[in-house]
Amino acid sequence: MELPDPPREGKMVSPQAASDALVRKPQIGDTRPAPVMAPKPEAAKPAAEKSKSKSRRGGRRGGRNRRRTGGSEAVAGSDAELIERRRGKERNGKAVGRYMMCVQVREGFTQVAMLEGRSLIEHYVSRPADDETQIHGNIYLGRVQNVLPGMEAAFVDIGTQKNAVLYRGDVQFDKDDVVEQGPDPRIEQVLKSRQLILCQVTKNPIGAKGGRLTQEVSLPGRFVVLIPDSRTYGISKRLPEGERRRLRGILDRIKPEEHGIIVRTAAENATEHELTTDLTRLLEQWATIREAATKANSPTLLYREPPLAVRVIREEFSSDYRGIIIDDRALYTEVRDYIQAFNPEFADRVEYYDQSTEGLALFEQYRVHEQLRKALDKKVWLPSGGSLIIEHTEALTVIDVNTGKNVGKSNLEETVFHNNLEAADEIARQLRLRDIGGIIVIDFIDMEVRENRRRVLEAFKDALARDKTRTQVFEISELGLVEMTRKRIGEGLLTNFADPCVVCEGRGVTLDLSMLD
Ligand SMILES: [Zn+2]
Repeated sequence: MELPDPPREGKMVSPQAASDALVRKPQIGDTRPAPVMAPKPEAAKPAAEKSKSKSRRGGRRGGRNRRRTGGSEAVAGSDAELIERRRGKERNGKAVGRYMMCVQVREGFTQVAMLEGRSLIEHYVSRPADDETQIHGNIYLGRVQNVLPGMEAAFVDIGTQKNAVLYRGDVQFDKDDVVEQGPDPRIEQVLKSRQLILCQVTKNPIGAKGGRLTQEVSLPGRFVVLIPDSRTYGISKRLPEGERRRLRGILDRIKPEEHGIIVRTAAENATEHELTTDLTRLLEQWATIREAATKANSPTLLYREPPLAVRVIREEFSSDYRGIIIDDRALYTEVRDYIQAFNPEFADRVEYYDQSTEGLALFEQYRVHEQLRKALDKKVWLPSGGSLIIEHTEALTVIDVNTGKNVGKSNLEETVFHNNLEAADEIARQLRLRDIGGIIVIDFIDMEVRENRRRVLEAFKDALARDKTRTQVFEISELGLVEMTRKRIGEGLLTNFADPCVVCEGRGVTLDLSMLD
């Protein structure tokens, strides 16, 4: 069996990825009981912080989040006002938002389509059978199978067909449990074969690679992420400073001391009541997990992530979405209740789509099917008649840019340049839609003018910036190739719809071996 990518792959480079991962290692010890949440008295707040926040009042970010009431409490208007502020733009009573989500439920699988305008930008599939492969976020009681000192890793049985892998960097241990003390004990000193450990999947198994585990558990809610037994305390850097201060004021009061939290961007303008509800729910979840872990004595699933649609909404839903349309009554109810609890201002954006009265399937209605079929094709047409050819190999994906029917208007360089610009935009879209990860090599059409090469690369990077999956683009090589990487999340759109060809075994040609007779 293959190891998943080594930990260094997980090191963040972009500022956003870094802020997403601002999780510090929690403190050792998995033995404390789940806490009963008790609000901390206001007086417990450090005086220094209070005066600091006062002196900054009305500062740089005073505008949108300016407090309206005085006093030491961080109050930013009534709950109703806060909720209203999150609503986003509306026109004629209709939500205005760039994105829409369509969820189509069928026997055995659920598909989620993200639309930007009418254009399909992302597509996810989940199947009930994915208890084996879509396990990211799940928490298990696992049993260490064997420790590989040379790989600084351990294989862990989590009750799925394939063992998962725990790297040294993701191991947590109690110093008192390590006999041979050292500043940085080796994996074989902290993990023993047959040992039962609480662990969470941070990466789905892909192909022959097992899933990846961490012992640092985190439970995501709508507004906060709970990191049990940790001192982590982070607030999304994407929130304005005044808002971060307001949120910290509330969380200082409601956060249990023994646990860490990360406050998500979605917490902007969240009320104290909503934050408390979210946190309480997470603490109850954690208590249930802990209890199940103490009762089990073999590999067990302790916590399962909610259905895909709920997960996507939890992670992404904001005022940028004008709606969520779901064609399954039960899932619709679940999603609407979730939104009602955490974002009541958006409750009317969740819609049930009744195929029996509408006639067309939801994905037909929104032309998702049509766009999916195109996204499965090797060839992609560009607006001016050029095209892309997207091909996969074992090690990388190759994208070839052609001018095709694009004969241009002025001169060759100009035609090529504009064709490449169209290609740059479309490639970024296709990478996301097709969920292509790993190494990608793009063969743009050669350009004589250095400035044009620079502008194409610039345009490409701009287009990729809208992709929330991490990408890295390198300079154009001697042969005019652009090399890039995109973080591998799923197995790719194609894998969801295809099996390798049994006739040619993937060669794409059938062999005539009669000459060898
Ligand atoms: Zn074939």
